[in-house]
Amino acid sequence: MSSVVGRSGLTGRPTRRRIPADKMRRLASVLRGSLVGPQAAEYSDLRRVWNGMIDRYPALIVRCVNDDDVAAALAFGVDLGLPIAVRGGGHSVAGHGTCDSGLVIDLSPMDRVAVDVARQSAEVGGGVRWGSLDAATATHGLATTGGLISTTGIAGLTLGGGIGWLMRQHGLACDNLVEADLVTAAGGRVRASDEATADLMWGLRGGGGNFGIVTRFVFRLHPVTTVLGGMVIHRMDDAARLISEWATLVDDAPDALTSMAALISAPPAPFIPRRLRGQPVLAFVLCWSGDLADGERELAPLRRLGRPAVDLVGPMPYPMLQGMLDGGAPGGLRNYWKSGQLRGLSRDSIERIVEHAGRRRSAMSQIHIHQLGGAVGRIAQEATAYPHRDATHTLNIVATWRDPADDVANIRWARGLHAAVEPALRGAYVNFLGDEGQDSVAAAYGEQPYRRLASLKRRYDPDNILRINQNIAPGG
Ligand SMILES: Cc1cc2nc3c(=O)[nH]c(=O)nc-3n(C[C@H](O)[C@H](O)[C@H](O)COP(=O)(O)OP(=O)(O)OC[C@H]3O[C@@H](n4cnc5c(N)ncnc54)[C@H](O)[C@@H]3O)c2cc1C
Repeated sequence: MSSVVGRSGLTGRPTRRRIPADKMRRLASVLRGSLVGPQAAEYSDLRRVWNGMIDRYPALIVRCVNDDDVAAALAFGVDLGLPIAVRGGGHSVAGHGTCDSGLVIDLSPMDRVAVDVARQSAEVGGGVRWGSLDAATATHGLATTGGLISTTGIAGLTLGGGIGWLMRQHGLACDNLVEADLVTAAGGRVRASDEATADLMWGLRGGGGNFGIVTRFVFRLHPVTTVLGGMVIHRMDDAARLISEWATLVDDAPDALTSMAALISAPPAPFIPRRLRGQPVLAFVLCWSGDLADGERELAPLRRLGRPAVDLVGPMPYPMLQGMLDGGAPGGLRNYWKSGQLRGLSRDSIERIVEHAGRRRSAMSQIHIHQLGGAVGRIAQEATAYPHRDATHTLNIVATWRDPADDVANIRWARGLHAAVEPALRGAYVNFLGDEGQDSVAAAYGEQPYRRLASLKRRYDPDNILRINQNIAPGG
């Protein structure tokens, strides 16, 4: 079979090499899933990931339906010395769910969710996305902390940490991971749990996909039905003061409240006043997951801040809140993100953020300030590989645009804001990192956690076979 192996230096177009036909036949004969090569009709869709900036041509995509498929695909890739990318939901902004000239192990067909109501837990396939998990658990009045956009994969998000609307009450997504089945880089099978493999569980809670391919996750669930949530939207006039007051108000809020300040363009939706649609605005996005009457009382001061242009907060089923922001994050657009963790939100940082928001080069770009704390901060720093327990906020600078001709301006904008606030940043959340290399991964974790991660990597993947990720170098 002829497969793409790289790019021509002259044209930038992919070049090809042959994968031995007998090896392909042998792989095909053991797979229950399917092989997708460059000649297949689905190839042009399947080679792509969420971020439209990523334009890679894998040699082969293996669509796995079970653990045996994953192990066979991995052995095939190792045997041929191919670069190996592992894909859950394909939302890595760095494009780690695909590769040039290598093998993509695509878990998206592994999309089974089984809820155990008695145990308040869910068994979840490695290719499930948050929308499916939320829908399945909501049927039983249960939920676990998941990402803010329903199309994101549970796998990458959980393994890197996992911030979401329930985190201040129930911890990060990774804090609710109680068991995982892995195919290790050496092809072994491991069932990870706190009892059996405490070190590995430590690494799976924040260390990313460095230690194996997770085929099955088990999450702890919590009773969650209706939440009080939505957005309060303000014109930009007084944005810096309002963000500062929001930060003060939510600083000692009950755990049931998780919130975010977002500098965005108002969506062109019927519930937005006509004159505001498409205009730059400040939105406070709120989720109260406790008693609704308490929530009305607790959220009142936040909803009274300044003079809101529109207040869209109300009771809604939790999965509705989980899909509420989907329209602002469609796949296929060009994206470049910069992020960092903050310990405290100074007036100076807020002013710099607001000033840069006024200089966005694309109306689709957004700036998010996520409120942390609560249950996230009460877990001991050393208890998991996620290294930011003491951070108060995550800043995510999301540059999004359509036209490749605008790449330079948008990337410069994101970098400019990042540089302006850099003195206040303390490490970064790996799930929001772009493809910035191993040094930036090491800096994101900090020295101690990185050293421990490297030692775990040496144990589970000493040859760094799983390296198309926010990579932990086995050498430390
Ligand atoms: C629109 C959007 C919204 C987001 N919202 C949030 C949010 O609310 N909260 C948050 O914390 N993060 C969020 N993120 C960041 C998100 O957590 C990361 O992009 C995450 O990596 C996505 O996981 P995925 O499975 O979709 O991605 P993929 O691109 O499939 O994988 C990402 C990484 O995980 C590895 N991986 C994937 N599946 C497996 C597996 N089964 N076993 C081992 N390794 C695996 C991959 O190799 C890759 O390195 C968001 C990202 C996007 C694009």
